[in-house]
Amino acid sequence: MNTFHLTIVTPDGCKYDGDVESVQMPAAEGSVQVLAHHVNFVTTLGMGPASIGLDGGHRKAACIGGMFSITDNVARLIATAFEWADEIDIERAQSALKRAEDQLEKADILPAEKTLATAAKERALVRLSCADAKKD
Ligand code: ATP
Repeated sequence: MNTFHLTIVTPDGCKYDGDVESVQMPAAEGSVQVLAHHVNFVTTLGMGPASIGLDGGHRKAACIGGMFSITDNVARLIATAFEWADEIDIERAQSALKRAEDQLEKADILPAEKTLATAAKERALVRLSCADAKKD
C-alpha cells in the first residue's frame, strides 16, 4: 500500500511521527481524507474526529483545531489539542461538558463568556464522541 510521512504536533509535543496510509480530519471545508501522493494542500482544521490509517487499520482521535499541510507527500498536522481515542479521559470531558452547560444556562452570561462556554462545550462533545472509538 502507498504510504506517506505524517507528523502530528501539539503544544504538548509530538503525538505521531511515522508513515501512514491515510489521514481523515475535520478540515475547514468538512471532513477531508488525504491519501499518498495527494496534490500539495493546506487547510485549517476545526474540531472533530480524526482517523489515521496505519498498519492496515484506523486509529481514531479527537482533533481540536489547527492546521494540516501535505507537500511533496510529506504531511504535517499541527493541532491546538489532539488526543488519541484511548487517551481521552471521559470523566474529565463529562465534567467540562457540565461546566460549559451550566455556564450557558446562566441568564446573565456575557457574550464573551458565551463564546468561551460554547467552544468548551464543543470540545467536550468531540472528545466524548471520539472516546469510545478505538483502533479497528
Ligand atoms: P478541561 O476544562 O478539562 O481542561 P479543555 O477543553 O479546556 O478541557 P483544552 O484547553 O482543550 O481543555 O486542552 C488542554 C490540555 O488538556 C490539552 O493537552 C488536551 O489534550 C488535554 N485534555 C483536555 N481534555 C481532555 C480529556 N478529556 N482527556 C484527555 N486530555 C484532555
